[in-house]
Amino acid sequence: MKEGEEVGLIVQKFGGTSVGSVERILNVAECVKEEKRRGNNVVVVVSAMGKTTDQLVSLAKEISSEPSKREMDMLLTTGEQTTIALLAMALNQKGFEAESFTGWQAGIITEPVHGNARITKINTDAIESKLSKGKIVIVAGFQGITEEGAITTLGRGGSDTTAVALAAALNADRCDIYTDVTGVFTTDPRYVKNARKLHDISYDEMLELANLGAGVLHPRAVEFAKNYQVQLEVRSSMEKIEGTVIKEEAVVEQNLIVRGVAFEDEITRVTVLGLTNSLTSLSTIFTTLAEHHINVDIIIQSITEAETTNLSFSIKTEDLNTTLKVLEEHKALLNYEGIDAENHLSKVSIVGSGMISNPGVAAKMFEVLAEKQIQVKMVSTSEIKVSVVVNEVDMIKAVEALHDSFGLSESK
Ligand code: ASP
Ligand code: MG
Repeated sequence: MKEGEEVGLIVQKFGGTSVGSVERILNVAECVKEEKRRGNNVVVVVSAMGKTTDQLVSLAKEISSEPSKREMDMLLTTGEQTTIALLAMALNQKGFEAESFTGWQAGIITEPVHGNARITKINTDAIESKLSKGKIVIVAGFQGITEEGAITTLGRGGSDTTAVALAAALNADRCDIYTDVTGVFTTDPRYVKNARKLHDISYDEMLELANLGAGVLHPRAVEFAKNYQVQLEVRSSMEKIEGTVIKEEAVVEQNLIVRGVAFEDEITRVTVLGLTNSLTSLSTIFTTLAEHHINVDIIIQSITEAETTNLSFSIKTEDLNTTLKVLEEHKALLNYEGIDAENHLSKVSIVGSGMISNPGVAAKMFEVLAEKQIQVKMVSTSEIKVSVVVNEVDMIKAVEALHDSFGLSESK
């Protein structure tokens, strides 16, 4: 920091693995210290240590198969509360002034939904008052409070969203997401050895990838970043190397049309057989499913002159039992003959902004899959992605073939 330059504000977020032990927390404290030493104000957002959240979920399940959502939020928010206190102590120990804040102390207000609440407002006064005194502010990720005073959580992986939302509200110069990988990859490097780290990627591409199963960032965090133009960087908390920058317009390497391949398993196809062909049959079915919180993804329906038709849609396998129950309970209203369901399916998607202006991407995708003898069961497209549903056993084979064929495996 040179003299006369304004003090910057950086939001840093550290995920569960990065704060998984005392040793790692001390390492995080070093990382925070460095940013502070550069002359910046620092707000740190942390997740629960290691697998804490999973362990808390298991504990609750030992007591009840359907615990109250209010109490679940009460329980899960303790995970992050542990980390903030320990990190503040670590920084104090190193001679830095740091104070920890729960989500509600930090003024993070959410809608009144337990387990998956959206942030509606942030009152930044408490944080700003500490920053103005030169203190490092540490905020528990993944949690907030409703206007009525109920404690809520933002959905699994939601600490990313806390960090980006704070960066937006505080008008931070940057939001750095420190994690256990070195950046955003062309596909998951744990499964595909040719996966390459991207230098940068656009908000839109990242949003598709996050929604299509790339676990590296919480989709709502990317949404916030795009809406408020927060410059994001995903980087490693262990290795001091450049990460991946997420911004409005990415520099497209080698004119690649496809920038990433995402995948997700545990998908189920449900087909409603002999559905009476009426103007309202589709709206009745999907309204009924939505009322029971079943998230339907790909829908396949063709219009014929016949009296009845078949309708297929995909869901997460975990929602199958509820889906079957709801369809059965409303059989008379929905007016169909039977149901067929197929499990052990996966969704494989290719994503890239270049698709908007380059026709033939889907055609090439089908050609590549056919060459590998991979059967495509369902298809869906948007401006910048094509998704196919395939058998689970073919998932990685499909990802590898697409990753190679669209030029993602080649080094720069
Ligand atoms: N601890 C929460 C989870 O495991 C939130 C997060 O880490 O982002 O999902
Ligand atoms: Mg995460």
